[in-house]
Amino acid sequence: MKIMFVSCNDHVCVLCRSCLCPMKIMFVSCNDHMTSSENLVSHAGSCHCGNVKFTVLAPSILEVWNCNCSICTKKQNLHFIVPRSRFTLHPDSEEHLTTYTFNSGQAKHTFCKTCGVQSFYTPRSNTDGVGVMPHCIDSDTVTKVVYRKFDGQNWEQFIETSDIRSRSKE
Ligand SMILES: [Zn+2]
Repeated sequence: MKIMFVSCNDHVCVLCRSCLCPMKIMFVSCNDHMTSSENLVSHAGSCHCGNVKFTVLAPSILEVWNCNCSICTKKQNLHFIVPRSRFTLHPDSEEHLTTYTFNSGQAKHTFCKTCGVQSFYTPRSNTDGVGVMPHCIDSDTVTKVVYRKFDGQNWEQFIETSDIRSRSKE
């Protein structure tokens, strides 16, 4: 297998040495960074009672954000982010959702009215995307989780240097 490594500001990408295409099966990770190919799989998830069900297209290796802001700390809001087009809510689930907002109101903390579980939400950092809870994925489709830190206690400063906004772009 002929490969080459290309680095940008904070990623290492694996490319085929011959044609420079991204390798479809290889992943490179370190403590803070992960780059995967766009080899997406369909993950199926739900809340605890099952009234809220969804599918989401994402890599099998999930990049999960661990934020230290006030609400993420209290509810341990680990999530991976996808463009909104890759998230499909089951048509019967909408009526079972309710939404909590605070402060800027940009983040939409959606959760199940019955069991209280938040299986997905809209992050303030990615209002054009969806933050999905990896622990609410029911399918056997997640091969690895790579954690990244989001300094939500210093949100305005952190967002300026973070690449998180690209996660909800196609
Ligand atoms: Zn529920």
